[in-house]
Amino acid sequence: MSRRDYYDVLSVPRDASKDVIKSAYRKLALQYHPDRNKSPDAEGKFKEISEAYAVLSDDQKRAQYNQFGHAGIDSRYSQDDIFRGVDFGEIFRDIGFGFGGFDSIFDRFFGGGGRRSASRGADLRYDASISLREAYSGVRREIEVPRAEVCPTCRGTGARPGTKPKRCPKCNGAGQIQHVQEAAFARFVRVETCNTCRGSGTIVDNPCEECKGAGRVQRTRRISIRVPPGVESGNHLRLAGEGEAGELGEPTGDLYVVVHVKPHEFLQRDGDDLIYRAEVGFADLALGREIEVPTLESTLRVKVPAGTQSGTVLRLKGKGMPRARGGKGDQLVELLIRIPAKLTNRQKELLKEFSAPEGS
Ligand code: ZN
Repeated sequence: MSRRDYYDVLSVPRDASKDVIKSAYRKLALQYHPDRNKSPDAEGKFKEISEAYAVLSDDQKRAQYNQFGHAGIDSRYSQDDIFRGVDFGEIFRDIGFGFGGFDSIFDRFFGGGGRRSASRGADLRYDASISLREAYSGVRREIEVPRAEVCPTCRGTGARPGTKPKRCPKCNGAGQIQHVQEAAFARFVRVETCNTCRGSGTIVDNPCEECKGAGRVQRTRRISIRVPPGVESGNHLRLAGEGEAGELGEPTGDLYVVVHVKPHEFLQRDGDDLIYRAEVGFADLALGREIEVPTLESTLRVKVPAGTQSGTVLRLKGKGMPRARGGKGDQLVELLIRIPAKLTNRQKELLKEFSAPEGS
């Protein structure tokens, strides 16, 4: 079944504002709402415009659709997910249909089985720990991911090589079963996935030995990932199609690699900036000197001016973490006074002399 472009469905331009999209949907909903429109294709049409509105009214889903089309939406959202968070109630109250929210409409018209994404392969999550140095420069990693893959022996059909799956007798190969419901005001056709063949339309008499007819086998796969510079803990990489194989030819899920950046020995991260705490002796703060400051790339010599107070922060421009949009943050050097725990007699004398009231 070919699906129409969401923008065409709502007859709006691709750069339409949210208000334009909303008013286009409101107009069409008024026209095709099954309570009002009794033509046989009104329900399908109503569902089509509602789905288009659900996607285009949500910034994230719209961006995903603009970039990847229907495949981008299908691979990422279940039917429930597409409609989640959309406030249809507001629109329907507006146009005089007494619905509290979209849930009731969803159940009423679209509910009960037949989810498109039911047998799509599952998404997988992998947690990767990297050092701050690796987060700074970016890093390539080989990871090992256990996952279900298409069986190489039967190529996913589940049938022993040389044999063929046969047509499912229950649904006659359609993979779906239609239920017709008569209601007081309309006739509803509900489509459910056939539970005998689980939607494939075929059943296997001679199962493949390798996968026992499942069409999928468990494998551990080495996958190369590239973590970009500047990544932060909690960021994730999405590797499309690297998740679990779908059932009997359904699309493969995605792999999400969640990145964790380990704490560094002496550098602390604050967004794009790095913080280094340097302990400096009292005399050095008072008289001024050069100190050595380690950065993620090298060691720098930094001048501490005479008369610097403890707690002063020096800023090393561009020595912080890379930013996604280019450029780098700064490294901050916090200068803290270090008080010696042990003093020689001579040092004690000198300090006493120093701290005696001036002019005495
Ligand atoms: Zn097999």
